[in-house]
Amino acid sequence: MSHFRIKCRGCGTVLEDTYCAFCEHCRGSLLYTEYTDRTLSIMDGKEIWRFNWLPVHGASFSQPGPVVYRSEALAGYLGLSNLYIAFSGYWPERGGNLLTCTFKELEAAVVVQNAMENGVRGLVVASAGNTARAMAHLSVVSGFDVVVVVPTMCLLDMWYPKGAEGVPTVALTDGDYSDSIDFARRLATHLGQPFEGGVKNIAKRDGLGVVLLEAVAVIGRLPDHYFQAVGSGTGAIGVWEMSERLLRDGRFGRHLPVLHLSQNLPFAPMTRAYQRGERELRRDELDPSLIPLITTRVLSNRYPAYSVIGGVYDALRATGGRMYGVENQEVYRWMELFEGLEGVDIVPASGVAVASLEQAVRQGWVNRGETILLNITGGGEGRVKRETGVSEVRPIYVSKETPVEEVEEAIFSLKNSS
Ligand SMILES: *Cc1c(COP(=O)(O)O)cnc(C)c1O
Ligand SMILES: [Zn+2]
Repeated sequence: MSHFRIKCRGCGTVLEDTYCAFCEHCRGSLLYTEYTDRTLSIMDGKEIWRFNWLPVHGASFSQPGPVVYRSEALAGYLGLSNLYIAFSGYWPERGGNLLTCTFKELEAAVVVQNAMENGVRGLVVASAGNTARAMAHLSVVSGFDVVVVVPTMCLLDMWYPKGAEGVPTVALTDGDYSDSIDFARRLATHLGQPFEGGVKNIAKRDGLGVVLLEAVAVIGRLPDHYFQAVGSGTGAIGVWEMSERLLRDGRFGRHLPVLHLSQNLPFAPMTRAYQRGERELRRDELDPSLIPLITTRVLSNRYPAYSVIGGVYDALRATGGRMYGVENQEVYRWMELFEGLEGVDIVPASGVAVASLEQAVRQGWVNRGETILLNITGGGEGRVKRETGVSEVRPIYVSKETPVEEVEEAIFSLKNSS
């Protein structure tokens, strides 16, 4: 018997465990995982697989987790006495061993293991950034087939960890991000593979919820407050869902952590909607012309899981949460300050989260003695690049009009030549 079931938040229907199940009645609501075991159990070791609350039956490859530790320097600077940092990235002295440098690697690991167990033979992912790198890396680690599709204009900032350069990466010469998504869908269909599923994939959310499980393993209780920068909302929803399980367990506290979520101004559709108290996002606030004005492309998602039942709006409401907007110069300032204080470089999205914590302290939304978890969703890129070296992406260039049969052949010959 399986140790979990998949349930619809809208109608309560229990669905069969298939890769990325959907409820046919409720298109506007998310499914979630219900684990038979109401108590968290943690096996020995350091890997993420030691937690019982993951939608997988085994582990076909090894996967390190985030590092959670109690901050002294940043905590002192902000005048906080119980600040914990969850760091997803490369920071060997602290035990940080995520070579792709963001929490997308946790998500990717659980997605790949779950997909393999459900008989999925491969996945096509449209991403220009951290998800692409994480999936490419996991493909190498697990032997699972992954094809990445990106718009050519995004290739410039892309890098893979050493060894992942052979993962097929299709670059669209004449398309933007939404064209890449369309192309990825067509290619997946042609290859007989399911779509990756985005936020609707329970394995993604539970994989990101590992951050909270690690935190509880270190702190011994649920934090009072949780800080994270959000793009699609997947990570924050995953943490909220995990906190509900931990509350039900009973040993880790009596309150859900308050979610403090942040976005980079001026593209901050969820921040704006929540500050108005609305479940609906406004079209003018999703304007793509705002995206080039922010420093954090990973937070520029134009279809976030905000309004959907069981999404970010519900998570904020359930926890009495808040949303913050952070200007570019504040992002840079806090990236630098963080590195100076804690001793590791962080990605801009993490700078957004740190800046939001400072705002919350200054505005009195947290008490200085409360237990706070700051999710540093990515860091150590600078160190990985200097110390282990990274690889350039070697793309297969195609146009939107290129027939998928030709792309399949190019992928096939790439694999046979490497
Ligand atoms: C994707 C990403 C985020 C945002 O996470 P969502 O789950 O999309 O809300 C934040 N930080 C980093 C480093 C990311 O890669
Ligand atoms: Zn339903």
